[in-house]
Amino acid sequence: MGPKSKFIKVRCSKCKNEQIIFDKASTEVKCLVCNEVLATSTGGKAKLKTSILEILA
Ligand SMILES: [Zn+2]
Repeated sequence: MGPKSKFIKVRCSKCKNEQIIFDKASTEVKCLVCNEVLATSTGGKAKLKTSILEILA
């Protein structure tokens, strides 16, 4: 188990919107622009559905 949670910058595969999401999202995360699902929750850790641009400290 990682001690720290992270923020991850991702790009929506559909509309190319860049968005920062939480590593340990407890709910589905959707693109704020087009509503595409960017990550789903898998018991505490987000499972990304799109490409990571950058991992933020
Ligand atoms: Zn989008």
